[in-house]
Amino acid sequence: MKAKFWGVRGSIPSPSTEGNGFFTDKYGGNTSCLEVIANSGDEYIFDAGSGIRMLGNDLIKRGFTGKGKAKVFLSHLHHDHIQGWPFFMQAYVPGNEFDIYSGARDGKTIEQVFKDMMADPTFPVSLDQMMAKMNFKDIPKGDVVQNGVTVSYTETAHPNQCFSYKVQEKGEDQIMRTLVYATDTEHDGNGKLGPNDKKMVEWAKGADVLIYDAQYTPEEYNPADFGLPGMSKKGWGHSTYEKAIQIALQAGVKEVVLFHHDPSHDDKKMDKINQLAQQYLSDKGAEDKLKVTVAYEGLEIQL
Ligand SMILES: [Zn+2]
Ligand SMILES: [Zn+2]
Repeated sequence: MKAKFWGVRGSIPSPSTEGNGFFTDKYGGNTSCLEVIANSGDEYIFDAGSGIRMLGNDLIKRGFTGKGKAKVFLSHLHHDHIQGWPFFMQAYVPGNEFDIYSGARDGKTIEQVFKDMMADPTFPVSLDQMMAKMNFKDIPKGDVVQNGVTVSYTETAHPNQCFSYKVQEKGEDQIMRTLVYATDTEHDGNGKLGPNDKKMVEWAKGADVLIYDAQYTPEEYNPADFGLPGMSKKGWGHSTYEKAIQIALQAGVKEVVLFHHDPSHDDKKMDKINQLAQQYLSDKGAEDKLKVTVAYEGLEIQL
C-alpha cells in the first residue's frame, strides 16, 4: 500500500501569509486528510479535513470521477476532520460511491452530523445535493475487510470520542504491512508510560508506520512542568513528539510520523520541532531502531 498526506494540521487550517510573516508552505496548512491506496488500487481516505479538497482535485486526473469508489474512515467528527467534505468535488459527482465510517454519538448518526454541517444558515448547499452515493456506517462493528486489506479500529483518549485505525495488507513479498493512523489522542504517565500509552503500544505493536498526534511540544503541553507560565493543555486530547517516540520505540515501530501540527506552528517552528525530535531520538541512542518523520502535505510513504 501507499500512503499520501493531504492535510497534516490540527484544529483549524493555517495558511501561509506573507503579510503577517507567517509561513507554512513547507509543511502545509490544511487539516487532517490521509489517502491510502491499496495494492489493488482500492482507495481509502482517513479524515475529511480541508486537505480532502486537494485530494478531490487530484482524483480527477486519475480517472476517478463518475465511477470512483472509496472507503472514508473518520477518526471523529470534530470540525478539523470533516470540514473539507462540502468542498470535496468527488462527492458531487453521480456515479461515485463512498462508504463513510465513524462513531455515531448520543443518538446522532454521522449522516445527521453531515446534514447539520451543510444546512441553512451555515452552508448554502445541502448534503442531499451531493450526487455521489454515500453509505454512512455508524460505529464500525468489527474489522472492515476488502480485497486483502483489513481496517480495524480502537478508541483513543480524546474529548467527544475518537478512533485510531489500523490498516493491514501484505506486500508483494507476502509479508504483512501495518499502518496505524492515531490522530487526536492524548498520552498520560509523565515521563513513564501511563495506561493510555500502554494501550497505544499494544495497538501499534510491530507496525511499519505509526502516524501519531504530536500537536504540542512538551513545554506547550504543560508549561508548569518547565516552570513556565501559560495554559496547560491536559485533557485537550493531544500529545507530543516525545511521547510519539517513546510509544513507537516501546511498540517496535519502524517509522513514526508526527502529525496534527498545531496551527500556530509555522515552518520555522516545525523545523525546530523536527530538530528536537531527532535529538530526543539520538539521546536515547535509538536512531537505528526508529525513523522519525514530520508529516507534510505531499509526503508519500510506500509500505
Ligand atoms: Zn483534530
Ligand atoms: Zn478532535
